[in-house]
Amino acid sequence: MTTGSPIRRFRQTKIVATLGPSSSSPAMIRSLFEAGVDVFRLNFSHGTHADHGERLRAIRALEQEMQRPIAVMADLQGPKLRLGTFADGPVTLTVGQRFRLDLSMVPGDTTRVGMPHPEIFAALRPETDLLLDDGKVRLRVVDCSLEHADTIVVAGTRLSDRKGVNVPDVVLPLSPLTAKDRADLVFALDQGVDWVALSFVQRPEDVAEARKLIDGRAALLSKLEKPQAIQHLERIVELSDGVMVARGDLGVEMPPEDVPSLQKRIVHEARLAGKPVIVATQMLESMISAPAPTRAEASDVATAIFDGADAVMLSAETASGSYPIEAVSIMDRIARRVETDPLYRTMMDASHADPQETASDAITAAARQVAHTIHAAAIVTYTTSGSTTLRAARERPEVPILCLTASAAASRRLVLAYGVHSVLTEDVQNFSDMVHKATRIAYLHGLADDGQRLVITAGVPFGMPGSTNILRIAWVERPTRPAGSAARNAQEAPSDLQSANQLTPVMAGVED
Ligand code: PGA
Ligand code: MN
Repeated sequence: MTTGSPIRRFRQTKIVATLGPSSSSPAMIRSLFEAGVDVFRLNFSHGTHADHGERLRAIRALEQEMQRPIAVMADLQGPKLRLGTFADGPVTLTVGQRFRLDLSMVPGDTTRVGMPHPEIFAALRPETDLLLDDGKVRLRVVDCSLEHADTIVVAGTRLSDRKGVNVPDVVLPLSPLTAKDRADLVFALDQGVDWVALSFVQRPEDVAEARKLIDGRAALLSKLEKPQAIQHLERIVELSDGVMVARGDLGVEMPPEDVPSLQKRIVHEARLAGKPVIVATQMLESMISAPAPTRAEASDVATAIFDGADAVMLSAETASGSYPIEAVSIMDRIARRVETDPLYRTMMDASHADPQETASDAITAAARQVAHTIHAAAIVTYTTSGSTTLRAARERPEVPILCLTASAAASRRLVLAYGVHSVLTEDVQNFSDMVHKATRIAYLHGLADDGQRLVITAGVPFGMPGSTNILRIAWVERPTRPAGSAARNAQEAPSDLQSANQLTPVMAGVED
């Protein structure tokens, strides 16, 4: 990047990276951002509030330094079921043996172990399968009560402390928000996260319940990792602001051979609705301990991009792996490579959803068309709620979507969406203001060069949500400066950058 000019990405697909012990120093967070991270994920399954608070402060400081909105996602653990502990470390079972699960807190052995979840015992029936440790061990219930279950070991033999438990065949009477999640949610919202991710969503009501608690303070993303959720996919997408193909648990709860088709179906459903969709888990798994991915992993990332996902995600690769920067860099390179493939463009054009019968969608679809026909450098959307920008992202245009908004919250949330480069700025007052601001910011942010064109959409009256009704083509001219300098350099033109961006004053207000 040019020194002093705001960073821009050279791809439309976004990168989400999880922070953890390998990646939490301010210097590391900065390097991850520079390598390509758009959205940082705070995983509340691990770490303390103090850890997450510190990470968030480092991200907000970086945001200010970089003068770019950065999205932060708080991922709540949800009702992740776990075994208790064993008295003498890991145990080895034998396939065919009986093994008891109960509510006792007494450490387990090769005959039994505690499972401190009365609601599972209430839902179990003979013949129900329990999957332990990401499906490595399968137990089949032969006899059960409200306090115990006697099972037969069907597959797998090794168990150790606090391994996860999945019960795929049963709708568990569990809220997706445990007491821990509720406390984490209050903390995350107070800290000012932009997205809250909800784990193990089973029913549309789960999403509605979380929505009520979040009360508009953050956007809500539903993680699809339960077969029950897939049955209500359309409704869950409708009630959420975004979704995640959470392939880790999904691949335990469903046969692995179902996961690729489900990924395609979920991405398709989310794109149809115009909601951001993340493909997650094990994308570059081997990079936890190796500096380069396997060919199959590179292909998996590429597949998600060919599917038209808004974002691809890294979990342990960046949270606890040895090569977090390398993992982000390779993801960035794969995305850039795929997006220049003519086949990718053909696929995006063939698969994008038809506009709905609204003025906003009509203008937005036209904007993509016009941008393509005249080889415009970017599409510019003025937005108050962010909805116009999401509709533009739904079009999967080949050029960046410059999102100009006076809402700091919208500018950050939209970072997750396909192709969106958001810039916080003041509302425009009139038509010429609209054109000038768009062209100047596009130039300063390196999205368009002198002599290139932009396609601008906006709504008159200005600043009214849901009123998109204007499409304007504008030429970009190099902004005139007192010094006559042409460089997009903050040091040479600080006042220009500042007035174009307005990030500093607003951020300062949001931070405390
Ligand atoms: P997790 O969610 O990493 O929080 O389990 C993602 C997944 O299950 O794939
Ligand atoms: Mn999960």
